[in-house]
Amino acid sequence: MNDEIPYRIGIGFDAHELKRGRPFVLGGTPLPYHLGLSGHSDGDVLLHALMDAILGALALPDIGVLFPVTSPEYKNIDSRNLLKMVLRKMRQRKWRLAQIDCVIVCDRPKLAPHTPLLRKTLASLLKLRENMIGLKAKTTEGTRFALPNKSVSALVVTLLVPKPKIQNR
Ligand code: MG
Repeated sequence: MNDEIPYRIGIGFDAHELKRGRPFVLGGTPLPYHLGLSGHSDGDVLLHALMDAILGALALPDIGVLFPVTSPEYKNIDSRNLLKMVLRKMRQRKWRLAQIDCVIVCDRPKLAPHTPLLRKTLASLLKLRENMIGLKAKTTEGTRFALPNKSVSALVVTLLVPKPKIQNR
C-alpha cells in the first residue's frame, strides 16, 4: 500500500574493477572493449546502481542482501534478470518508475559515443520514455575517482510514482 506522499526517491551506487577475460556490459548493453567488469554476476555497475536506487526508494534491502555473492545461482548471472526481479518487487508494492538519472564514472573506455545506445536499451528494459532517462558518462581527469582501465562506477537516482489503478468500466 502507498504511503501519503505521492512519490518515492532512491539513490544507488556501485563500482567494479576492470579485468581481462570479462565481458564489458553496461546498462544491459555489451560494449566493445578489451577489458570487462569483474564481479559475481556480469559486473554491470549501471544496472546494479539502478537496482539499488529502486530498492532504496522502496526502503528494501540492497542487492547485496537480495542476491548474495555466496549464492551459486547468481554466479555470472545476466543483471537484466536481477533487474526484472527488482521491478517485480516494485510493481507488487504498487509503484512504477517515472524517471531515472544516471552518472557513469569512467576514464576509459570513452563512453560518450555509446550513451545513445545505452539510453535506448535502458528505455526498453524499464519501459520508460528516453526523455525520462538522464545519462551522463563522466571522466575524472585521472583523479582517483576512476583510475583509467582499473574501475568503473555508477550513481543512479530514481523517482517512483504510484502505479495507476485499473479503472472499472
Ligand atoms: Mg555490483
